[in-house]
Amino acid sequence: MPETTAILIHYLKSTKVQLTILTFFMLIGFFSIGYMGYQNVQKMKRDVDLVYFGSYIKISKLKDLKNAYTGELVNTILKSKNRLLSHELSISLLKNSREKIVDSWLYYKNSYKSEDELIFMDRVDKAINLSLIKIDIILDILKSKNQSRINSISYEKIFETVDDIDILIEALVVYESEKSHNIKKKINIEFEDSLYKMWLLMVFVLVLGFVVSIIVSRNIHISHKMLREKGEQLRDVNKLLTELSITDTLTKIYNRRYFDLLFERELKSCARDKRYFTFVMMDIDHFKQYNDNYGHGMGDEVLINVAKTLKSSLKRPTDYIFRLGGEEFGAIFIGLDRDKSLALAQKLLKTLEDQMIVHEHNSASKYITMSMGLKNLIPDASTKGKAIIESADEALYKAKESGRNRVVLA
Ligand code: GH3
Ligand code: MG
Ligand code: MG
Repeated sequence: MPETTAILIHYLKSTKVQLTILTFFMLIGFFSIGYMGYQNVQKMKRDVDLVYFGSYIKISKLKDLKNAYTGELVNTILKSKNRLLSHELSISLLKNSREKIVDSWLYYKNSYKSEDELIFMDRVDKAINLSLIKIDIILDILKSKNQSRINSISYEKIFETVDDIDILIEALVVYESEKSHNIKKKINIEFEDSLYKMWLLMVFVLVLGFVVSIIVSRNIHISHKMLREKGEQLRDVNKLLTELSITDTLTKIYNRRYFDLLFERELKSCARDKRYFTFVMMDIDHFKQYNDNYGHGMGDEVLINVAKTLKSSLKRPTDYIFRLGGEEFGAIFIGLDRDKSLALAQKLLKTLEDQMIVHEHNSASKYITMSMGLKNLIPDASTKGKAIIESADEALYKAKESGRNRVVLA
């Protein structure tokens, strides 16, 4: 079980996984906000419909009904009573008003009603039906054209009925208005509530996104730092490896491999710049004798001392010293003419002898000495490195032949 947890934690630490989780949460969050918004818009539409069809239209129909009674019907009756309208026109106008009353009332009656509305409506319905009967009676009398019957019509009764109905309708209008006001209030509260929820969700998603991105960026930062450190370590190791690969293990000066590389490189560079190039081949005198008399260990010490002496005597960055193998050394000087090169080589010889490393079996001195073959030239593109080395080697041979502890110019 702890193993599973460890695997899970390791998995969660991966930047890629964290980024995926971040994207996932953001998507879920925005999808939820979008979905909530959509639901709210749908709900608002239904609520608006409820207000519109449930109250607004009903109220407007009630107002039409009221107009049909108090406006048109009363007007027609009054005018008819005062004989301001023709017989036929009175009948047609009354019929019109009756039709309007029936239409408006039917519409209101058939629309959705709550329980208490139904009770209220019942009373109005009875009053309206009664008024319709009265209108029908008037219409019948008018149609009969019997003047004495027409004169007997009691218009006051009709007006009373209209007044009653007017009061009832007015009460219904107030009731419906109050209801629509309440619905509107409820819609407002619900709207505020869902707006608040959406804000809350949005803030939650943003905070979550913020937290996850901080974790991810911290992770990236740590990985970056680790990578940089590893890069630095790698560079150090590489430097060390390079140094090791070009250094002689015993004497710690440049080795044969680096000599091969540098010799060609510097030769080409001097050929290009038309500068002096000097190669000195060096060999310790009677070193076999030294080993034989003082031991191989002492011989090694001598090699180390010789290397140190030669290296510390060369001060310019363009002078190089190498151990070419065994008790043979090589030097490269850049930019020194023949005389200066010879002088420098001679200085090396003298400095070495001045170390006074006792070598009683050296025919050239009481101390350790070297012989040198020196080749100096301004190379060109056709100059061969191999030929320079051969010339220096020949000169070294001559130095040995002619008594050792000396430099011979090739
Ligand atoms: P010459 O003056 O003609 O150069 O005589 P030499 O004795 O120096 O020349 P030779 O080539 O006969 O002998 C070179 C000796 O150098 C042989 C070997 O024992 C010794 N030598 C070579 N490499 C090493 C080394 O790494 N350590 C030690 N102690 N001796 C070495
Ligand atoms: Mg030798
Ligand atoms: Mg030798």
